[in-house]
Amino acid sequence: MVCPKCGSENVTVTIEQISAKTRNRGTGCLWGIVRAFLILCTCGLWLLVGKRKGTSKTKFKNETVCLCQNCAHKWSV
Ligand SMILES: [Zn+2]
Repeated sequence: MVCPKCGSENVTVTIEQISAKTRNRGTGCLWGIVRAFLILCTCGLWLLVGKRKGTSKTKFKNETVCLCQNCAHKWSV
């Protein structure tokens, strides 16, 4: 691995978690209102129901990132 900026071979390769996307089923303003209404109606019981169902999905994306120890240049592979 050679740095494209300065040509140094003193490069460390690390795996970084670049993004964590949380995808909720039925996203949108209307669903938010309905959900808030349901939470109020059921005195928070809806939150437990929602948790059990697991409607939200969190996506993690890992990226290999190189960091030059010579010039501190950072780039992804
Ligand atoms: Zn460099």
